Amino acid sequence: MSRAYNFSAGPAALPEPVLRQVRDELLEWRDERASVMEVSHRGKAFIECAAEAERDLRELMGIPDDYHVLFLQGGATTLSALLALNLARADQTADFVLTGHWGEKALENMKPSLQVNVAASAKAGGYTGLPARDGWQLTPGAAFLHYTPNETIHGVEFHDIPEAGGVPLVADVSSNFLSAPVDVSRFGVLYGGAQKNLGPSGLAIAIVRKDLLGRHGRTLPPIFELGNQAKNDSMFNTPPTFAWYVLGLVLKWVRAEGGAAAMGERNRRKAANLYGAIDGSGGFYRNPVEPAARSWMNVPFFLPDEAREKAFLKEADAAGLLALKGHRAVGGIRASIYNAMPEAGVQALVDFMADFARRNG
Ligand SMILES: *Cc1c(COP(=O)(O)O)cnc(C)c1O
Repeated sequence: MSRAYNFSAGPAALPEPVLRQVRDELLEWRDERASVMEVSHRGKAFIECAAEAERDLRELMGIPDDYHVLFLQGGATTLSALLALNLARADQTADFVLTGHWGEKALENMKPSLQVNVAASAKAGGYTGLPARDGWQLTPGAAFLHYTPNETIHGVEFHDIPEAGGVPLVADVSSNFLSAPVDVSRFGVLYGGAQKNLGPSGLAIAIVRKDLLGRHGRTLPPIFELGNQAKNDSMFNTPPTFAWYVLGLVLKWVRAEGGAAAMGERNRRKAANLYGAIDGSGGFYRNPVEPAARSWMNVPFFLPDEAREKAFLKEADAAGLLALKGHRAVGGIRASIYNAMPEAGVQALVDFMADFARRNG
């Protein structure tokens, strides 16, 4: 058996050189004579490792100094709940633009803590496009506008940053973190789980404009107060140290590969290759998303019937193309092609698709 191309939506493929390094230093890390998993988060070695990861993320994303970078336990779901508590008073309104499953979930998660307004939703169209900007019903003076730049299940992505009239944008970038250059200064908050583009699960990252914290007027348990985490360099309690360390290695890999710009170029080519194969299949494969809103990270597609989808998945798995089953909410096939998926992996999928269509068309 050998390592296959893994198209899992998350937890997702990690760069192979990162996994090799983790393996090589798993028992003895740096000069610690112990595993990175076994040392104190307050020791010099781990604090250095943690600070390096933050420095690298700041540099790779161009994060300005007036933003905190928080490394927290949990996932995007934990963070959306915490952000609702930290970014607004209970009587303030947050606007939501819904373009898929995760935006809906964030809304449900935030609803107990503040007032919510659905400013726009693409649900009526089955989440196959973006709601036209001129129809958004924004709340004047809203605490923030929440949206999901890349909807992982529906395969719908914003390829520009929406104008929100001065209201801070809060964006769940779980599935497109560092997938291309982004102007962080246009956002109030960028947040997400690490387990798609950045590292293992268990770690969530929030990039938060400093002035947005401390205005919520609530009495929160200190552990839920993001300002406390910021003051304590995300070590108010024990952080997920192993995941943080692996994330640091992933960032060094991104840098060695050429940084965010190189990731963006490569991801654009990978997506173009795969959508080209779908659109050029004479209707055998079908992606329902409006071309301008198609995701570079998650590509759902369908075959003419479920029987052939089942055969496709089985044969793909045997051919070393893993985890292509679509999310149960949507069905069909989904190829997640995050940063760590090499172009050769997408090419292998495209070749398999052509062969399968020839035999089953
Ligand atoms: C995977 C995913 C989530 C799920 O987050 P958890 O880290 O499991 O809490 C949320 N939002 C988006 C956009 C995702 O892709």
